[in-house]
Amino acid sequence: MFEDDVSHLTPTSDQISPIQTGCQGIKTWCSLILVGIWLAVGAGSHDIAWAGDHQQGVATHGAGPLPANTGIDVHGQMHIHPSDRCPLCAMRPARYPEFSCGIRLEDNRTYYFCSPRCLLSVWADPQRYLKMTAEDIARITVRHYFTGEQIDGNTALWISGSDVIGPMGPALIPLNTEAEGVAFKRRHGATRIFRLKALSRHELQTLLRPSR
Ligand SMILES: [Zn+2]
Repeated sequence: MFEDDVSHLTPTSDQISPIQTGCQGIKTWCSLILVGIWLAVGAGSHDIAWAGDHQQGVATHGAGPLPANTGIDVHGQMHIHPSDRCPLCAMRPARYPEFSCGIRLEDNRTYYFCSPRCLLSVWADPQRYLKMTAEDIARITVRHYFTGEQIDGNTALWISGSDVIGPMGPALIPLNTEAEGVAFKRRHGATRIFRLKALSRHELQTLLRPSR
């Protein structure tokens, strides 16, 4: 008697009504919304952790990202601490020794970046990313791609559009001489070879767009 009741209440697949199908659709949407909420909460907690890390022993500077523990020295050399964060993407520059680079400001604050792509984004639009002007930038230190030597990014020869991938996608490559640029291009390709002083900030912004 009981088994008969159960079999009566349990529909077979071809007995599922349009209303029940609709309910399944609603469940699917609810699941997607819950996943969305979970992702949003996860991203938020990451931001909180970042701010917390920065506040350990480092003075805050207004509402913007915090500067490095130890800045670029008078010889233009970087001193990246494992806890320093890229002010654009929040990754740790110490984890990218081939690509890490830095900007020292006129007031002696330094920001270290995961890669030249983040650094040049600031150089191209300092107001947007760090609430400062181009005149506030005193020094750019980048790593020579072949030797790892720390060189001046303002006078470096830059390569874009090669096959080298950095922490933030297609890499921008610092070198010194035209001959190095030719050698690099032969090995890795290039769509543009330039020096910063020959490029307007607007041109650089265009060059940094993801499609380039
Ligand atoms: Zn970055």
